[in-house]
Amino acid sequence: MVMTADKAFEIISVDRMAIACDGGGGPLGHPRVYLHIEQDKGDVMCPYCSRLFVYKAIHHKVG
Ligand SMILES: [Zn+2]
Repeated sequence: MVMTADKAFEIISVDRMAIACDGGGGPLGHPRVYLHIEQDKGDVMCPYCSRLFVYKAIHHKVG
């Protein structure tokens, strides 16, 4: 599912599909970008800082 995990700088679990990333500020920061996690993919990587955002609801399915 998370095929890009080995390339990710950091993996961040989020609870919504639309997120904003600014690199966390400081010297590693970058202009704020808005990313959207696709439902069937479950994760999205920030093109600036290579943080991988994973939609955490995917990990605990009901049933
Ligand atoms: Zn970023």
